[in-house]
Amino acid sequence: FSLWAGVPKAPPDPVLGVAEAFKKDPATNKVNLSVGAYRDDNGKPVVLECVKRAQQIVIEKNLDNEYLPIQGNDVFTHAALKLGYGDAFYNSNKDRLAGVQVLSGTGALRTGFDFLKKFLPAETTVYVPNPTWPNHNNIARDAGFKVEFYTYYDPATKSVNFSKLLDEAKTFKNGSVFILHACAHNPTGCDLSISQWKELRDVFLKKNHIAFMDMAYQGFTSGDCQKDSEAVRLFADSNVNMLLGQSFAKSMGLYGQRIGSLSVLTQNANETQNVLSQLKQVIRPNISSPPLHGARIAEIILTNPELLQLWYREVKIMADRIAQMRVQLVKNLKDVGSQHDWSHITNQRGMFAYTGVNKQQVESLINDYHIYLVGSGRISIAGLNTKNVGYVAEAFHNVTK
Ligand code: PMP
Repeated sequence: FSLWAGVPKAPPDPVLGVAEAFKKDPATNKVNLSVGAYRDDNGKPVVLECVKRAQQIVIEKNLDNEYLPIQGNDVFTHAALKLGYGDAFYNSNKDRLAGVQVLSGTGALRTGFDFLKKFLPAETTVYVPNPTWPNHNNIARDAGFKVEFYTYYDPATKSVNFSKLLDEAKTFKNGSVFILHACAHNPTGCDLSISQWKELRDVFLKKNHIAFMDMAYQGFTSGDCQKDSEAVRLFADSNVNMLLGQSFAKSMGLYGQRIGSLSVLTQNANETQNVLSQLKQVIRPNISSPPLHGARIAEIILTNPELLQLWYREVKIMADRIAQMRVQLVKNLKDVGSQHDWSHITNQRGMFAYTGVNKQQVESLINDYHIYLVGSGRISIAGLNTKNVGYVAEAFHNVTK
């Protein structure tokens, strides 16, 4: 008799499972377009210059390794909130922001949902965009919520079906929770326009919905961190019920450092103190307190004016390279003779393109061409470079002929 004989094998993660298969493939021409991590033109991970310099400062400070408080490094968190909500909103409303350091964007979502589960009516549903980062469903589900999709992407037009989205927001039960990608929607690369955000905001206000804004790619839509957080400011300025998760995985290239922040917008300083005390109640039994190093790096970058400017420039370099690879991919597709309209690839923003290739075509790309992408046809544009874009374009042409 074995205690674990009845444990069934769980399915591989839809994104990380593909990365594992890529690792095992011995082909020398293989291309990994599955994982959302930035690569340079040689296909290599990048340590930003601002991060190298911040790390040097950390070393020179010769700090100890004592525990952080339960809510983490407050200097980091408040610098992150200032970045996320913008200077003007932050400066006049910082008493209304209950903020904590969390384990990157994932930790922001989990901490936020665990908190919401304790204080929202039991029957509250969490709505996530269709499609979305698949872990959204897992996190809200494991926090105990019923999770459903709201309409987002329309494969026919390869853009957001905004009228349906808005209709649904109007008809869903008052006080529902929505995960909203603040910018650079993963996986579709399609964001709302500012006028659409305004319309959605008005519905949220009318319906008392709760916006859980997930900002994992600040700067990757436009190359400008301020511009990319416009939706956050719009909702916060109008006093929508909202939470904001911020990740520095992609924007600072601090993936494995697991550094991010979560904030809850309250109505006054007293509420903020109470909410903060409850966020700590969520964090303590989960991770006790968050890790030191990533917060030190991010704190230095966000609070040192020179490093902050350097970081802004480096974010723009990453966003610009991705935008160039979109153009190159479409150009190469045309050059090899593809007759399809691939303009959605250059219209989409952020790290990903939702190519529109179907499951069979994805399988052929993996098995016949050693090009690894997730089943939905999403590719990480950051995995493209001047050396492999021609090969990838030819393969996409061959499987879509
Ligand atoms: N939200 C979205 C939309 C994402 O794409 C990701 C990462 N792929 C995350 C959150 C969380 O990432 P992390 O925990 O590494 O910050």
